Amino acid sequence: MKFETRLLHNGNEIDPITGAASIPLYQASTFHQADVDQPGVYDYARSGNPTRHALEETIAQLEGGCRGFAFASGMAAISSTLFLFSTGDHLVVSNDLYGGTFRVLTEVLPRMGIEADFVDTTDLAAVEAAVKPHTRAIYVETPSNPTLKVTDLRGIAEIAQRHGLLTVVDNTFLTPYFQRPLELGADIVIHSATKFIGGHSDVVSGLVAVKDVDVANRLYGLQNALGAVLGVQDSWLTMRGLKTLATRMEAATASAERIAKALSRHPQVKHVYYTGLPDHPGHQLQASQASGHGAVLSFDLGSGEKVREVLSQVKLPLVAVSLGAVESILSYPARMSHAAMPRSEREVRGVTEGLLRLSVGLEDAGDLLEDLEQAIDGRRFVSIASEWRASIV
Ligand SMILES: *Cc1c(COP(=O)(O)O)cnc(C)c1O
Repeated sequence: MKFETRLLHNGNEIDPITGAASIPLYQASTFHQADVDQPGVYDYARSGNPTRHALEETIAQLEGGCRGFAFASGMAAISSTLFLFSTGDHLVVSNDLYGGTFRVLTEVLPRMGIEADFVDTTDLAAVEAAVKPHTRAIYVETPSNPTLKVTDLRGIAEIAQRHGLLTVVDNTFLTPYFQRPLELGADIVIHSATKFIGGHSDVVSGLVAVKDVDVANRLYGLQNALGAVLGVQDSWLTMRGLKTLATRMEAATASAERIAKALSRHPQVKHVYYTGLPDHPGHQLQASQASGHGAVLSFDLGSGEKVREVLSQVKLPLVAVSLGAVESILSYPARMSHAAMPRSEREVRGVTEGLLRLSVGLEDAGDLLEDLEQAIDGRRFVSIASEWRASIV
């Protein structure tokens, strides 16, 4: 069966007890034990809840894993996964990394004696060179945020297997609809389901899918021990969002492609970062490991002043952190996701004062483009000014 069909028919969509067409909210923290010597499937909701379980089974199937886990946020999923490692362990990590993950790896895990080296994972030789005798895993994000650098997932998994390491992939930007890292050799795939999987800016949620049973059992132990589980209502909302994933990803990606092309021809736009553009350095690689380019693009307007002008004049996108929603979201990485990073570090990564990231939503692409172009050209400014002048005459 095709992915689109499996989103809706995966064995987890109908309540086995009542036949309800949507898994009910099993809003229960504990479960009656009819026979204390033969405990039921569920005993206490941190350890397992039927609503959450339906979501966990669904993500496992969609990513091609043996087991899935739902956490209270993307960061809860990432942190719980990183607890697989112990004092003395070393990780090789993409240097273009989600800020929250960078914070855990640099501020929390070092206190437990777990160390990470940040390397450009688009360079496989650099990854291999960073592997030490006590390295336990390679952790990558591809395409990266916000300049969409593409890491070769098969190449990373091959290095990891040769050295006996786990490959962990944050697949938030592409979702299993476009990219399935476990099928390319990874061991663990993580999502901030707050983004495209939830899809409606109404839930904070994290998911993990795992390839083999041993890692799954260890991660289950951590989920139960640490307790950062996804609540019942949020599990339901995440499943609700997931049902329309294919349609949303297709539509938003088609619009992103059109907007990226148009912006790359715009005289005031210095550079567009989008893997769907043929001049993007990762274009071919992306096409070889993912079936689409996704709905996130970034563009450089050359200066912070221009950015402020555009942000104050756009009407349609939210100006906000986050991405992957039905509504378009425009983010300013230098002041939002990468604000904590020194300017020099940021500039090396292409995160300049002029860079904006656009997560394309489901609005009409022509309307979005017109809104962006008016804001970039400053046409709306002129018309607001002339309206004001007209009003005082
Ligand atoms: C948002 C995000 C996270 C963190 O997820 P939360 O749900 O906000 O905790 C992790 N990785 C990526 C790539 C993200 O975009």
